[in-house]
Amino acid sequence: MTKAFAEDASRRFGTRAVHAGQVPDPLAGAVMTPIYQTSTYVQEGLGLNKGYEYARTSNPTREALERNIAALEGGRYGFAFASGLAALDAVLKLLSAGDHVVSGENVYGGSHRQMTHIWARLGLAFTFVDATDQDAFAAAVTPRTKLIYAETPTNPMMQLCDLAATAQLARRASALLVVDNTFATPYFQRPLELGADIVLHSTTKYLNGHSDMVGGMVVVNRDDLAERLAFVQNGSGAVPGPFDCWLALRGTKTLALRMRQHDANARRIAEWLTRHPKVERVYYPGLPSHPQHELACRQMTGFGGMISLELGAVARARAFVERTRIFSLAESLGGVESLVGHPASMTHASVPPERRRAMGLTDSLVRLSVGIEDVEDLIADLDQALVAAG
Ligand SMILES: *Cc1c(COP(=O)(O)O)cnc(C)c1O
Repeated sequence: MTKAFAEDASRRFGTRAVHAGQVPDPLAGAVMTPIYQTSTYVQEGLGLNKGYEYARTSNPTREALERNIAALEGGRYGFAFASGLAALDAVLKLLSAGDHVVSGENVYGGSHRQMTHIWARLGLAFTFVDATDQDAFAAAVTPRTKLIYAETPTNPMMQLCDLAATAQLARRASALLVVDNTFATPYFQRPLELGADIVLHSTTKYLNGHSDMVGGMVVVNRDDLAERLAFVQNGSGAVPGPFDCWLALRGTKTLALRMRQHDANARRIAEWLTRHPKVERVYYPGLPSHPQHELACRQMTGFGGMISLELGAVARARAFVERTRIFSLAESLGGVESLVGHPASMTHASVPPERRRAMGLTDSLVRLSVGIEDVEDLIADLDQALVAAG
């Protein structure tokens, strides 16, 4: 059975990040949560156990991570999964064939692919809308709509969805609001506090923060949702192993420190890029020129480390991503190291070209995941690559 988790509410974020969900190991007093690398647990007699029977259902290392991230999101229940997409898969399994979902159109490419190529075939219906436009959301809702899905800021266009307004819309429609909070992390944005029903993460990114595991997380407050998610987590079984949970748990301890540095570096770099003659446009919610900067200031407490830039020509985008030296050309984001990516051919290659164009995702758009290195070195690296790209 699912265990509700109540963290000391007076503790602040950085303290919770280090301590929430973790108790000294009862056997040896180990300060750090052990890796319970086991598939099963001894039973002292029939029906007599310590609350653990089989590791798909529950594992102490996984539970520590689930409680830790739930506490950071201001939630009571966390459910860990083998990947962010496995977390999405579990959330969509709360629905039934014939149900309708309204989703932002500019969601993570793999999320869009799962919805349109797997769930649509199995009987869910999807309508994709411009998530910056509340009227578009409202117009897409039908009596069969059971779930509204939003990612904010979006990948890679850095568009925002007004979570408080969307939560009101979802409530009026008796639909669940599900928010992918991977980009902002709970350090900068807490969707449950803004009215969302479910928060979802790819822990692969900022929560783990060191690019050395793949994982997902779902956080809720409602008992009924927790009960159903626990059933899906155990019944479908896409659970992470204890070592990956332990890595993520080590990652979240420094989440506050890391996010402050990602944010400080990205603010400097975004501002610098707006003045660079080789850059046509910079997408970053922290810039006053961002069309939703006011909303960003209202629903986020910082802007994070993701920046997209428009270089105007495919050849220049290619030359740029191949010439950076500190920024590695790679998929993914959210690690301590800086990465550069080309969404049209990498993360969003599975999104049809016409849909990419509709959302402004050109073939000359480049995405930066700004790491925690010294910002002067990062700026120098970007500058030499921009100049070399012609
Ligand atoms: C990476 C990512 C996902 C998918 O997570 P995986 O861990 O790769 O399965 C979902 N949403 C966003 C915003 C992501 O960046």
